[in-house]
Amino acid sequence: MSDGLYYPWPEAPVPGGWREVAPGVRWLRLPLPFALDHINVWLLADEDGWTLVDTGIGYTKIQPVWQTLFETALEGRPLRRILVTHYHPDHVGQAAWLSEHFGAPVWMAEEEYALASRLLSVSDEESSARMADMMVSHGLNGDLLEGLRRHGNGYRRMVKRLPETVHFLRDDDVITVGDRQWRVIIGRGHAPEHICLASESGDLLISGDQVLPRISTNISMRPGEESIDPLGLYLASLERLSALPASIRVLPSHGLVFDGLHHRLDALAAHHRVHLQHLLDACDKPQTAADVLPVLFKRELDGHSILFAMGESIAHLHHLHLQGKLRRSETEPYRYAR
Ligand SMILES: [Zn+2]
Repeated sequence: MSDGLYYPWPEAPVPGGWREVAPGVRWLRLPLPFALDHINVWLLADEDGWTLVDTGIGYTKIQPVWQTLFETALEGRPLRRILVTHYHPDHVGQAAWLSEHFGAPVWMAEEEYALASRLLSVSDEESSARMADMMVSHGLNGDLLEGLRRHGNGYRRMVKRLPETVHFLRDDDVITVGDRQWRVIIGRGHAPEHICLASESGDLLISGDQVLPRISTNISMRPGEESIDPLGLYLASLERLSALPASIRVLPSHGLVFDGLHHRLDALAAHHRVHLQHLLDACDKPQTAADVLPVLFKRELDGHSILFAMGESIAHLHHLHLQGKLRRSETEPYRYAR
């Protein structure tokens, strides 16, 4: 294939549908109301029920989709455990509802739960202001900012509530699910403690958003987290995954199941290396993150996609700054130069 990956099933399940990808491992699709219109979640056969990995966005209209899946994919058997890869709304959104419905515990990493709890507690005004202030300090201006200041706390609209208690998973934990064992590999950069699950037999990797086919994982700096280098953490996490067998089959949160993990890891690292070099070239004179958007993104950007793009642009410049390759101005808007 042109991207060097092999897709064993060229057709994904339709949203609300499912497919068995290995004995006792089912691929389910849930709808998402964005440009990215779906999320993959995984059902793992577990004793007399299932362990579920990820849950869908927290909109009530997803619940009828789940109710159908209870009878089809789950064959009427209960969820025994719910595992959440990271705090993003399409992954954690339905965790509280599913957990209550089945009386099933939720397992996730501590920092993910802490961040989700913090985001839920922020007021609309504060949430908007934090994001808009960060964008202004990195050179964004214009109509979009007005919209952003009225946007409120989008996280709370997509994750109405969290499970009250959570079992915390740590890096390198091994979980037994039915007759399989899965090792927790914590990935960083996209989220604070993103859980990937690698089967101990070396045949399957549930990669979440950490490794996706076709699209690159969003790497953004969050407001108030200037001491963190998300891109540096992400690149280090890619390297760590490269220790897994080349033949491992990858079950990602978006797109199709694929073979060719090492190929994909190399392509993602190269993608960021090229972007970093282009930014260094562009910063022969002082530039803001908004100035360099055309260096990173060749396509036309609108509304929401500008915010994602700004997040990426800031994260890349911040990485070069922390590495000592770019200097940052003392005053806002921040300008970066060699
Ligand atoms: Zn995510």
